[in-house]
Amino acid sequence: MTTIECDPGTKVCSACRLVKSLTEFYTERCRKDGLSYVCKSCASLKAKRYYATDQGRKTLAAYRRSDKGRQVRRLCVEKYYEENPLARVAHKALNHAVEAGRIVKPTSCEACQKSDAAHIHGHHEDYNKPLDVRWVCPACHRKIHLPTPGTKGGGK
Ligand SMILES: [Zn+2]
Ligand SMILES: [Zn+2]
Ligand SMILES: [Zn+2]
Repeated sequence: MTTIECDPGTKVCSACRLVKSLTEFYTERCRKDGLSYVCKSCASLKAKRYYATDQGRKTLAAYRRSDKGRQVRRLCVEKYYEENPLARVAHKALNHAVEAGRIVKPTSCEACQKSDAAHIHGHHEDYNKPLDVRWVCPACHRKIHLPTPGTKGGGK
């Protein structure tokens, strides 16, 4: 094991071997220096590759079902609603309309036509029109929300 001397405030990523500033590493309490051994960009690359495998998908699905996973997701949603109070109002109104049968939720995605009744999302182009949504599958929904240069990224 070779140790690479580096400036305090920097660390060598063990994946890409680049010297990066400590802010480029995630904190990991269980490690000796309290930081992850790979930099943020390598970590996200690694995660992406892992979650594309069958095993990774299973792990992710199990995590999402776990208490911790649920809690994290709830916090994300809460944070989103805090930043977008109109979104909360719009989502509530939409849910009510669906429950009351005033709006029929389709069973397939408007964008790719895939049928996925359990996971169709209502995407709001404008939160001021809570019942005006596009019904899309999670994959297409994610695509809609990918920020495109020059736009604000749309609703939820
Ligand atoms: Zn790296
Ligand atoms: Zn779709
Ligand atoms: Zn949306």
